Amino acid sequence: MGCEPTAQSHVPTLTAHLLSLITAVAVMAAALLTLFGTTQRVYRGFWWWVSAQWLLCLGLFLQTFEPNWPVISPLAHALELQWPIVVLSGLRHFYARRQWRVPVVVDACLLAAAFGTWALVRAMAPHPDTEVVAFSAASAVLHAYAAVNALMLPEVRRSSALKVFIFMAAAVTVAQGLRAAVLSAAASNQAVALWAQGLLTGTGAVTLVYLGLLLTFERTERNVRISQRRLKFLADTDILTGVPNRRHFHERAERALGETSVTRNALLMFDIDHFKQVNDRLGHAAGDEALRQVALCTRQTLRGLDVAGRLGGDEFGVLLPATSIDEAMAVATRIVERLEQRQVAPHAVRLTLSFGVVQMAPNETITDGLRRADQALYEAKRQGRGRAVAASGEVQSPVFRDSLQFGSKRWPAV
Ligand code: GH3
Ligand code: MG
Repeated sequence: MGCEPTAQSHVPTLTAHLLSLITAVAVMAAALLTLFGTTQRVYRGFWWWVSAQWLLCLGLFLQTFEPNWPVISPLAHALELQWPIVVLSGLRHFYARRQWRVPVVVDACLLAAAFGTWALVRAMAPHPDTEVVAFSAASAVLHAYAAVNALMLPEVRRSSALKVFIFMAAAVTVAQGLRAAVLSAAASNQAVALWAQGLLTGTGAVTLVYLGLLLTFERTERNVRISQRRLKFLADTDILTGVPNRRHFHERAERALGETSVTRNALLMFDIDHFKQVNDRLGHAAGDEALRQVALCTRQTLRGLDVAGRLGGDEFGVLLPATSIDEAMAVATRIVERLEQRQVAPHAVRLTLSFGVVQMAPNETITDGLRRADQALYEAKRQGRGRAVAASGEVQSPVFRDSLQFGSKRWPAV
């Protein structure tokens, strides 16, 4: 942005007032951003935006002394021209993890070239209109460059703040370009030119406040969303095995039951045999690894619609929607076979599993189903472990039907 001195002798009072007004708007924007930055959590890049705005304010302030002290003019113009480049630097820091296609050195070179061109034109053709044309052209190039760089960010699609910034930078580019073209073609109306410049400076200030605040909110909101997702994962997952914990298993299994119109659903509950001995003989780390292997084999065996969870200790539950008792027995066998395949190493821990299997009654809850499956599991343990037992009937009077032994020779107890 920026506001250059133009024929101040023609309309000195109006110019002075306009300049004061523009400076006041710019200072308010800078103050607002500073206040926000000192009271709220902000991210990398924010203070670059604040700096860009304060430097612009300083440039506008110095400009008021220009009529009496022309030597200050180059510094004032440099401070005004920096705005799009320093704002872009803020974006570079804000999106520091992004690979920016244009290296940062180009920013500095372009700013130096823009200022150098303005200074050269001023030295060679010292006329207010020529000076304004050079300033407008330089400002248009820098704004266009900032807009193109921002446009290349993948975040543009999601961020309305970035879209607004790009739109504003493009609009300033067009406005400055038009102004340069009009002034180079005809003598200007200096007051109108100043009003236009003031409008551009005000638009830039408002956009920068919007950009700074909204990008900060967007980043905070994204961080909160990520934290929530992480917390939910930690609350729902058994960290050792990676399967849902008891509470989440109940939730997911109840939901799966509610979603299916099929009445024939099976529930498995299984437990590692003599697991205490694994811990006692081989240590807790080996026990943990065994639990991980059992969970992994279970997950690899199941379909997408099945729900598995660690109920606690060495006990797991599996809901198999649209599954008969026989099919559930086959699933149990496949889990055991997969576990066996993973235990071919000579020193691998050899594990056996015991299963309780029930067919869910219509409208039966997971809690009630697990209670019956637990009775069947207890019966499998009682019958000698390394087997699956199916139960039917009420909790008070269970009937143990099929009992499937998983080859005791191949599956010695630890
Ligand atoms: P059973 O055949 O009757 O099931 O005998 P068991 O020794 O497996 O007895 P039980 O199932 O009651 O024992 C569960 C053991 O699992 C008790 C505890 O030391 C162990 N355990 C529970 N949670 C963990 C864990 O997170 N890591 C390890 N390494 N061991 C655990
Ligand atoms: Mg056990």
